Amino acid sequence: MAGLIPQSFINDLIDRADIVDVVGSRVVLKKSGKNYSGLCPFHDEKSPSFSVSPDKQFFHCFGCQESGSALTFLMKYERMDFVEAVETLAKDLGLTVPREKSNRNYIEVDQRIYQALEKAERVYKQRLRGMPAAVDYLKGRGLTGVTARDFSIGYAPEGWHSLSEVLLNEDVSAEVMLKAGLTIKNDSGRVYDRFRHRIMFPIRDVRGRVIGFGGRKLSDEEGPKYLNSPETPVFAKKSGTVRFIRSAQGSAKH
Ligand SMILES: [Zn+2]
Repeated sequence: MAGLIPQSFINDLIDRADIVDVVGSRVVLKKSGKNYSGLCPFHDEKSPSFSVSPDKQFFHCFGCQESGSALTFLMKYERMDFVEAVETLAKDLGLTVPREKSNRNYIEVDQRIYQALEKAERVYKQRLRGMPAAVDYLKGRGLTGVTARDFSIGYAPEGWHSLSEVLLNEDVSAEVMLKAGLTIKNDSGRVYDRFRHRIMFPIRDVRGRVIGFGGRKLSDEEGPKYLNSPETPVFAKKSGTVRFIRSAQGSAKH
């Protein structure tokens, strides 16, 4: 169970969002005077009676009388509930939805873990391009560049701190990296990157957030052929989340 979304965050979100962007990315709009108009997505019509006002941050249809804010539009158009609309809007703006603790049963997940994983995904993806051996490997397994992109397949570089150094520079703390399963601490207390010289497959939850990785080794060096993220506060292996990765990994096996 998630906690409550603070009202202040919702107000801030509505302030920052531009209804013209939100509607305009889903409905064809034309500027007409101060406003924008288009064919109403909520009723059948041949001439536009749907109007969006950037000043009022409000939409209104003179045909079917639907009206509301960017959030209302998302809820109606995408058939989302309020929380989903808030999350979608926040994601588009690059914001993380804060949660207030609502009851004792609610375990608050450190949002920095998700952020660290997302950053790691980006680093791995960037590194794939600079690693012909990894690209060749994927091609040899019949995976095209498009598939690699669609599944956000990446490459974890060689070296003990290749990833952690990049993330440290982006203000991800060593503690968060460890919690996210991106690094390992050995018995003597030494901390290093968990995934090295591996093809990386992000594992996502139903909302599309990266919650872990599966890594396939590229050379005959020691270590397991497949290495997955450990259990973390956001990644429980027993849940169904692992399935999301299988389809992509399946084509790269053997
Ligand atoms: Zn209408």
